Amino acid sequence: MDCVFCKIAAGEIPTSAVYQDELAYAFGDISPKAPVHVLIIPREHIGSLAEAGADKRALLGHLMGVAGKIARQKGLAKGYRVVVNTGEEGGQSVEHLHLHLMGGRQMTWPPG
Ligand code: AMP
Ligand code: ZN
Repeated sequence: MDCVFCKIAAGEIPTSAVYQDELAYAFGDISPKAPVHVLIIPREHIGSLAEAGADKRALLGHLMGVAGKIARQKGLAKGYRVVVNTGEEGGQSVEHLHLHLMGGRQMTWPPG
């Protein structure tokens, strides 16, 4: 499968890992929109949150936990945002489920 995030998780495209374990891989966004902008992905290919069935609930929870762990490691004590763009209207551009962890500046609401 020609999926850029699968290749990143497999080490075929070099990135500096922010965190990794047997289920998840995290790395810096190539086009950061905040002082801290980390992408957290499952090693397993899942196209989007819309494609994640009930059997993926534990994995999704794990990814959220990883986001919290990285936020603590990055010192984001004043807060941060975790975003999962999903599908065309959700603004998803890479079709491998990913969490954006963003922090280090004041976020606004609603996002564009
Ligand atoms: P989304 O628009 O929610 O699908 O987010 C995809 C994100 O992946 C964007 O913020 C891109 O900047 C980022 N991105 C795309 N290719 C790479 C790459 N090779 N390494 C790191 N980040 C990437
Ligand atoms: Zn993939």
